[in-house]
Amino acid sequence: MDRENVWKNYSDKQITELERINEEYKDCLDSGKTERECVKLAVERLREKGYVSLEEKKNSGEELKPSDKVYAVCMGKSIAAFHIGSEPLERGMNILGAHIDSPRIDVKQNPLYESEEFAYLDTHYYGGIKKYQWVTLPLSLHGVIAKKDGTVTEVNIGEKDTDPVFTITDLLVHLAAKQMEKKASLVIEGEKLDLLIASRPLTEAEGLNKEEKNAVKAKVLKLLKEYYGMEEEDFVSAELEIVPAGKARDLGLDRSMILAYGQDDRVCAFTSLFALLDVPEVKRTACCILVDKEEIGSVGATGMHSSFFENVVAEMIALGGNESELKVRRALQNSKMLSSDVSAAYDPMFAENFEKRSSAFFSKGLVFNKFTGSRGKSGSNDANAEYLAQIRKALDEDEVAYQFAELGKVDAGGGGTIAYIMANYGMEVIDSGVAVLGMHAPWEAVSKADVYEAYKGYKAFLCNCQD
Ligand SMILES: [Zn+2]
Repeated sequence: MDRENVWKNYSDKQITELERINEEYKDCLDSGKTERECVKLAVERLREKGYVSLEEKKNSGEELKPSDKVYAVCMGKSIAAFHIGSEPLERGMNILGAHIDSPRIDVKQNPLYESEEFAYLDTHYYGGIKKYQWVTLPLSLHGVIAKKDGTVTEVNIGEKDTDPVFTITDLLVHLAAKQMEKKASLVIEGEKLDLLIASRPLTEAEGLNKEEKNAVKAKVLKLLKEYYGMEEEDFVSAELEIVPAGKARDLGLDRSMILAYGQDDRVCAFTSLFALLDVPEVKRTACCILVDKEEIGSVGATGMHSSFFENVVAEMIALGGNESELKVRRALQNSKMLSSDVSAAYDPMFAENFEKRSSAFFSKGLVFNKFTGSRGKSGSNDANAEYLAQIRKALDEDEVAYQFAELGKVDAGGGGTIAYIMANYGMEVIDSGVAVLGMHAPWEAVSKADVYEAYKGYKAFLCNCQD
């Protein structure tokens, strides 16, 4: 079943819309490089379209009614947004779910040290990365410093043209004879991923204590005090994430692709959000959830395993004027979901790792994975054939391009998504997403045509899957 490259048949009008969606997408990638930044940005966009927080709705004393738009945030790192349909919530929702955490390098809680007049931040990587890919790149620092007095200061260094950047060094090739013999997983070891942040000592004129042996570190502490009013101890309650510095860029002479950090899974997250924002009045409540912690197993209060989403649905049922545990269960069980996560794009440079007939290709539209998992579909949500048929119908109605694929060859490896977690409620779930080249690398590539088809596909799912 060969699918055509969608670029061949776009009208001028479609190209204009494709460009608009992709420009908006790139803007979101630039301002959303961490889960916190993504939630902040989502809240801004939702509020522009008339969404209010569930708290505000509750405090207003009004009941939740059709065409209301509400959202709830969990600890600044996950968000669920709803466009209420004309049917009661217990009949089920159409849910788009994606994750907004991406592989990166995190700063440890006691990170700052000096060695031979260099100052470093000690780190621990987050998610599955090839560690050797993260050295010798310009890196930026994003996150928050929470202080004992209750204040939370945002940190973002390395993104503006005038900002400094940071880096992780690698051994020069001239002395790397031994290193080059090592296995790729050991070429750069986890504890060697420390971030170089300074090299200039504090002077006595600047207030250096004569006994102080670590003058470079002292200088860093002085600067941190100046910039953020923080003490070294405050690192304990900070969340600082190291990500590639720089903006999303058009890729290719023909500008047909985008190269950017964190497209797994923000390419699905932002297109899902755009789809929800553009959804007209619907029968079944439209929902978009953007969650944290997928890359480390969907654990924690802000991951998909947490009760956050279920609690929000319970609150909404109560706000609809008829609090009932049974109705909450019905609302969840009767829902349909697209678990939107990226797919591995077929890469001719590594053809031996793919099975061509079950591969996801660039510019052939939204990718569906009936199942994921590894070793005989283990750990996978295997979507129902009947549900697949419904989805095909919904997408065909809006002429969305889509393809069915698997993650690589059988037994080549594997991966999971949030699909199986939501399937626990008894709802219909299928994995869908955009094909990515170089997944989990500092810079990942996608096709602009696939970004556009994802947006169209997500919108078609929210609007057309009505029974
Ligand atoms: Zn991933």
